[in-house]
Amino acid sequence: MRKLREKLYQFLQGRNGVDNLGIFLISMSLVLLIISSLLDGFALSLISYGLLIYSYFRVFSKNIPARQAENNRYLAQREHLRFRLQSKKVQIGLRKTYKYFRCRKCKKKMRVPRGKGKIEVTCPHCGEKFITKS
Ligand SMILES: [Zn+2]
Repeated sequence: MRKLREKLYQFLQGRNGVDNLGIFLISMSLVLLIISSLLDGFALSLISYGLLIYSYFRVFSKNIPARQAENNRYLAQREHLRFRLQSKKVQIGLRKTYKYFRCRKCKKKMRVPRGKGKIEVTCPHCGEKFITKS
């Protein structure tokens, strides 16, 4: 038993191991597998096994810098999504106080206080002026 543990330890030396992206991939694989078994979806189960194989490849990969770069990209995407969800939550919370819309020229998001009637708005990003209802 001890020898087996030592061999396993030696095998895992210098390999990437489980990281945040690995946990996400394995979780997605499990979720897809459950959904595919409920819906009898062959394509979904194929995708699920593909994700599982890819996550195992990442765990045992010796190219640690490449795997870390993938993990960092995943973490950055996750943080970006979290930020967008948070700002959407704030926007929904303030929807009775402010009207949200996008600039017609540069498409940046803007807001004006509600209940002021027709007002002229100047985009703080591009300087475009237009009239909108608030
Ligand atoms: Zn603009």
